[in-house]
Amino acid sequence: MEVAIKVVVVGNGAVGKSSMIQRYCKGIFTKDYKKTIGVDFLERQIVVNNEDVRLMLWDTAGQEEFDAITKAYYRGAQACVLVFSTTDRESFMTIDSWKEKVEAEVGDIPTVLVQNKIDLLEETVVKNEEAEGLAKRLKLRFYRASVKEDLNVNEVFKYLAEKYLQR
Ligand code: GDP
Ligand code: MG
Repeated sequence: MEVAIKVVVVGNGAVGKSSMIQRYCKGIFTKDYKKTIGVDFLERQIVVNNEDVRLMLWDTAGQEEFDAITKAYYRGAQACVLVFSTTDRESFMTIDSWKEKVEAEVGDIPTVLVQNKIDLLEETVVKNEEAEGLAKRLKLRFYRASVKEDLNVNEVFKYLAEKYLQR
């Protein structure tokens, strides 16, 4: 039997959400990724605890600021990736409100916090202890990742799938 999980990838624009989905589902990274019109999600199948899991990763078309659109996007979500960027302090400061928006729509679902673009270490605007503090306060597993260097991307989704199966 196969389990299918709708995963929403959430956060400010330009933190690397589309890139993360592309990387995980297609194994590619491009500097200027443009969403394919008409495609709502990409998927990847993995095996977790001897179970076949199909992860459907939903992407937004870069309309993060429009509440009406994001509401429809969250509907039926069973897991969530909250993403901020190493080089964008505002994206870190808004994580709370992204989490609240998702929760308001679908309640408490398996969620993970990701700091992307750790390859840009010299441009860091978020201190490690701040990021870890946020994860602790929100009681979320925290990953530092680089979609560009393919660091920790698989781990994020494996963790979510495991967490989902444990419910
Ligand atoms: P979205 O708006 O959150 O979907 O962000 P995008 O996926 O469109 O990425 C925004 C920009 O950040 C693009 O130019 C990506 O190539 C770049 N980007 C994404 N992930 C990384 C990363 O891990 N490291 C670096 N250096 N750039 C990244
Ligand atoms: Mg995008």
